[in-house]
Amino acid sequence: MAVDYDKVKEIARELLIAIGENPDREGLEDTPARYAKWWKEFMDYDAGKIETSFALENVSEMVCVTGMEVHSLCEHHLLPFSATVSIAYIPTDRVLGLSKFARVAHKYAHRPQVQERLVDDIATELVRLTGTEDVAVVIDGSHSCMSMRGIRTSGSMRTSVMRGVFKTEGTTRHEFLSLVDGNRRG
Ligand code: ZN
Repeated sequence: MAVDYDKVKEIARELLIAIGENPDREGLEDTPARYAKWWKEFMDYDAGKIETSFALENVSEMVCVTGMEVHSLCEHHLLPFSATVSIAYIPTDRVLGLSKFARVAHKYAHRPQVQERLVDDIATELVRLTGTEDVAVVIDGSHSCMSMRGIRTSGSMRTSVMRGVFKTEGTTRHEFLSLVDGNRRG
């Protein structure tokens, strides 16, 4: 569903009044319009073409991409969270171009989300795109709803999904996790 720009703009103006602000004061005049524009950009994000893949000659190596940064919105508080996404899979007969992983991550981040579902959405899409169940996704999230409200402390939350050999084989899982943590320390 497309974002109703005019309606969001109107609601933003009402919101400013409801929190005791004057929406006509300098600095806030254009805020409802900016706010509506932001929602449009966020929700109508086009992840582009993510289906492309190319054939792999020699099989059996793990493909791993770490440190993809995406921004999403916590659906419980409508406050932003940033997520560092790392993925891995064991290719069978096709390999995705590297930019596709970032597009998949962005696609599912651009909606009201919870980190637990984001990691699962990305894993499910990767299974579909790569044609293998051997998929792993780790997300380290940093949540404004933790740092700006409630316990008001910053911290990182990790969620992960391990499927196929990443679930059954400890060595494969640890190999992936050490790549993720190596990247974080670096
Ligand atoms: Zn939240």
